Amino acid sequence: MPRVYIIDVTNRDGVQTSRIGLSKLEKTLINWYLNEMGVFQSEFGFPFTFHETNYLNANLDLAEMGVLKPIRLEGWVRALKSDVDLAFKLCPQIRHLNLSISTSPIMLELKFQGKFSFASVIKSMQDAVKAAYAQGAETVGVNAEDASRTGIESLIEFGLGAKEVGAKRVRYCDTLGADDPLTIYTRLKELAQKTKIPWEMHCHNDLGMAVACSVAGARGIVEGGQDAYINTCINAVGERAGNADLLSVLLALKYASGFKELDLFPPEIKLNKIWAFAKYASYAFGLPIPYNQVGVGSNAFAHESGIHADGALKNRRNYELYDYEELGRGEPELVETGRMITVGEYSGIKGFRNVFGNLEVEFKNDAEATRVLELVRYANVHTQKPLTREELIFVAKYPDQAKKIMTVTPP
Ligand SMILES: [Zn+2]
Repeated sequence: MPRVYIIDVTNRDGVQTSRIGLSKLEKTLINWYLNEMGVFQSEFGFPFTFHETNYLNANLDLAEMGVLKPIRLEGWVRALKSDVDLAFKLCPQIRHLNLSISTSPIMLELKFQGKFSFASVIKSMQDAVKAAYAQGAETVGVNAEDASRTGIESLIEFGLGAKEVGAKRVRYCDTLGADDPLTIYTRLKELAQKTKIPWEMHCHNDLGMAVACSVAGARGIVEGGQDAYINTCINAVGERAGNADLLSVLLALKYASGFKELDLFPPEIKLNKIWAFAKYASYAFGLPIPYNQVGVGSNAFAHESGIHADGALKNRRNYELYDYEELGRGEPELVETGRMITVGEYSGIKGFRNVFGNLEVEFKNDAEATRVLELVRYANVHTQKPLTREELIFVAKYPDQAKKIMTVTPP
């Protein structure tokens, strides 16, 4: 029975979004939270981009060490042999790639200015896939950029061309967020049936339908007999109006009336990790969670009007579709209101010992504590925000990788 997998693209589409971004340490923590949640794959960055190299390689080390496991770390590159070659030169351990190229007539004309015919798009994609496998890739997906404005016959040709050279999936990019759920369902069902290769949904929210299009497309793929992959971002970040929100997609798969009986919710997902993850992502991006955000907004389980409050108090099912406990909400949060010792770029060993004592992190000896203190100072220089509990613990537990992640040396 075909199923649905989640490929989160926060560390690629999310961070490339205008005016928001993450430090490399924060990107690493995003991968860690995604792994904790049971997400299948993280598109963790750009392996042909120099300032990503240390971060990517350190995260690949963490995967090898079993820290970022079982999540799959996959890099995004253009479907050009030259990009693939550079990716393997900079990140030799990388094993999973998605290769992207525009397929729509409008982008061929307006973006490539006629330099690429559709036939040469397919050739470039196939050459890039072959180059990736030749250099050690285990899985390669190919992305049809602007698929929603590409004719169905061209997408079938692209999909079959990808399959011919061993691509594992084709990404249907609704790059402009132009699709609607009914159309995308029909198109993806046909694409799955005619290409017999798994498809990936990549939907943007320009018309407010990214989540609806993602789950409708996934349903089409599954009914067309193939596995479906859905691209998401935490807290719905992403280019312009954002990508499909991770939590909303998961809740739609689990609770939407037409989806409940389809059993498409990925069984390995631990929804109760989302509350801590969403709050961390909000802090790291510096973007408040909207009060009406699905599941994690401050009003998601709030009731005030007479009829609603009365109904919710009598039985939560009157006005709540799912339980806040399921999302890891409901525990009181302790906020220090008296003396507080914090640790940052100018800290000394006494304050540092106090903070890490409270985190119940022990050091073998003074030398180890001094080394971690130095790295914590750099981590604060690096993020320019007070470090979170998880960030501090990460630096203490994986000092060698933390050092590599924070090392950004311009060429
Ligand atoms: Zn995108």
